[in-house]
Amino acid sequence: MIKIQQLEKLYRTEEIETLVLNKISFEVKEGEFVAVMGPSGCGKSTLLNIIGLLDDCDGGSFFFNNIDVSKYNERKRSALRKKNIGFVFQSFNLIDELTVYENVELPLIYTKVKASERKERVEEVLQQMQIMHRRNHFPQQLSGGQQQRVAVARAVVNKPKLILADEPTGNLDSNNGNEVMQLLTELNQAGTTVIMVTHSEHDAHFSHKIIRMLDGQIVTENILL
Ligand code: ADP
Ligand code: MG
Repeated sequence: MIKIQQLEKLYRTEEIETLVLNKISFEVKEGEFVAVMGPSGCGKSTLLNIIGLLDDCDGGSFFFNNIDVSKYNERKRSALRKKNIGFVFQSFNLIDELTVYENVELPLIYTKVKASERKERVEEVLQQMQIMHRRNHFPQQLSGGQQQRVAVARAVVNKPKLILADEPTGNLDSNNGNEVMQLLTELNQAGTTVIMVTHSEHDAHFSHKIIRMLDGQIVTENILL
């Protein structure tokens, strides 16, 4: 599903140029659950944002479903992203002014799903994430664990092929964190590919493969049973 070869990313400021990703190569097969680990600042989020077509690269190639997307313009990237990828972030990233229901409905509005179909899809996913009883609440009225369940609902409402999660349990206590990991595992078992950045060895062991990074490079890949 994902094939990255010799990927490079540079950040330039007036005086200096920093190579944040230095010839990264790896593959993620459809249905895999991959964890990405490494110290702060080693490039994990940058890598995830490139895979998620939120950012572009400066060198190397990036194939998404056998299509070379490294040269795609923003319009094409955005179309591919909306159709195929769901994001979950450490900070939940919900819109405070919208209810739980409205937050989860938003991706369906962006992809022009008909109003009649939207209700069914939102309710189905709210049930699945066990947050239906909070549908009319606003994010600030929910616990962190509940907010992250809403964020996972929003990420999957469009039935993406790929979920990208950047430290999804980073702001949660261990019980809520385990619930979120359980949800990601269930989604993966139902066929969704998952790539997750984490600082937690415990969370990483929910995956099939751990990629360890240091200073913009992959240092090891561990296959788990
Ligand atoms: P991680 O997620 O592993 O903590 P990041 O991918 O966020 O690391 O960042 C990797 C490096 O790139 C860091 O040194 C960071 O300061 C730098 N960086 C990230 N985003 C930008 C940006 N927009 N402009 C300049 N430097 C950036
Ligand atoms: Mg990060």
